[in-house]
Amino acid sequence: MQPSSVKPRHVLCFLGKDESLLHPSKAVAKTIADFNFEIDRTYSQAKPDPHMERSFGVCWDRVFPKAFRKSRIEVDDQFLARVVPAILQNSPELKVADPANLLDSWLAINRELRRRNSETITSFADQTAPEILWHGAFKQLLNTAVEAGFADQRTYVYKGEDVDHQVHLGFDLASTIAAPVR
Ligand SMILES: [Zn+2]
Repeated sequence: MQPSSVKPRHVLCFLGKDESLLHPSKAVAKTIADFNFEIDRTYSQAKPDPHMERSFGVCWDRVFPKAFRKSRIEVDDQFLARVVPAILQNSPELKVADPANLLDSWLAINRELRRRNSETITSFADQTAPEILWHGAFKQLLNTAVEAGFADQRTYVYKGEDVDHQVHLGFDLASTIAAPVR
């Protein structure tokens, strides 16, 4: 595929509560510096900008209709016997009807416990500093493989039957045990 000569364009949009935002002009200047953007001063707010249509147009070939990966995950008795009792033991707050029913207990874990965990994570975000504490884009940990992406659509299959569907809310990187974080 030939790279396009048309420069991709971005409209910057800043979201946040009043006190969490830098002064808008500072925020714009910082973002432009952090991401190496250039300002296009030919932009006009008064009339439609013909560049936008052309620039967005050249990006369409890079938009994949199936952006979110779909995966089917086999759940078998051996897996349930290995993970369910251990998780139940460590999560006394999760009440299941019959702990001996491994499939139902696992479904409660995959639905209810996961939902509660993500609520807890979200509540941590409310307790952080109001300003952004990092600069630039995140870098992937060295020597890691992406095992699962954010928003993967997962269907769980038990004995040939679809038993659950969840959206993956993390980004999984695989590495070796005790790999240094730097
Ligand atoms: Zn994950």
